Amino acid sequence: MFDITKIVRPNILALQPYSSARDEFTGSAGIFLDANENPFGALNRYPDPLQKELKQRIAEIKSVSPENIFLGNGSDEAIDLCYRIFCEPGIDKALTFTPTYGMYQVSAAINNVTLVNLPLTCDFQVDFNRLSKVLEDDTVKLLFICSPNNPTGNTLKGVETIIKNFKGIVVVDEAYADFSGTSLVATLHNYPNLIVLQTLSKAWGLATVRIGMAFASTPITALFNKVKPPYNISMLNYTAALKALGNTEQYGQQVKLLVAERNKMAGALSRLPMVTKVYPSKANFLLVEVTNADAVYQKLAAQGIIIRNRNKVVANCLRISIGTPDENRILLNALQQITV
Ligand SMILES: *Cc1c(COP(=O)(O)O)cnc(C)c1O
Repeated sequence: MFDITKIVRPNILALQPYSSARDEFTGSAGIFLDANENPFGALNRYPDPLQKELKQRIAEIKSVSPENIFLGNGSDEAIDLCYRIFCEPGIDKALTFTPTYGMYQVSAAINNVTLVNLPLTCDFQVDFNRLSKVLEDDTVKLLFICSPNNPTGNTLKGVETIIKNFKGIVVVDEAYADFSGTSLVATLHNYPNLIVLQTLSKAWGLATVRIGMAFASTPITALFNKVKPPYNISMLNYTAALKALGNTEQYGQQVKLLVAERNKMAGALSRLPMVTKVYPSKANFLLVEVTNADAVYQKLAAQGIIIRNRNKVVANCLRISIGTPDENRILLNALQQITV
């Protein structure tokens, strides 16, 4: 049996959370003199600390219960909270598969937690032989899996096997799941040690709004709620998110268009002489190996076209986000002109 109290840091287990004025009153009232707010204005009130209406809407879209949702100031807040809840600084460890999203490492370092980096195989899959050896270390409390993975673009195989066999918490970062059409959210009830991260920053077109979603069992979402700053989602962002989530048709059309553009771009890029490999992608970007990544990056930047140079992460690789059809065409034209 999975026992969450064995994984949580003792100080977090014992923590008495801050109780805000808006936590203590539920119901309808006309006069609020409980939070030292200015009574005048349109932005004068503190927002709902538990974001009930927004969670209700997300619950409908994702077919989960609102109690299984935590909302953070971007997924990056949820990543940080995972370290703070589960890893004792200087003692416990976390694990991830590289190359992957850089915030797992930055957040680990901020929290003084060692992140063990297990290299993916040459086709960017988990090396299960090496993983089972690493997991003999029972100070590893937290495991991050990004799928589809950033910057490689592929989905990882065997994720559920890892969740079943790992004694700690598995965080599956699905920031790009909208584009792959695959998600573990529907399996949550099977796995008390699973946290699935998604975001409004990519497919929903709300990067500026800073809302990340964590889906997990209620004991885990309760821990997130206990540790987060009380008003972590601003009302302006809340309102913008509710509005965007009301238009699932636009979301669906954009995802479809971006996936079609991605597939077209993969073909077109692979026909360029400078391109030696286009890695298969299930996300809204492509990892592209070229003969000289630094030179290509510099020449595009000089024309005002900015892509991500990942040469230091995967040799001679560029990560290219899929833009509008016009932007993609301009990029292709520019690449055709470049000689390296
Ligand atoms: C872009 C991205 C996110 C999103 O982070 P937010 O803080 O929600 O904007 C999360 N994980 C990965 C792997 C990403 O690439």
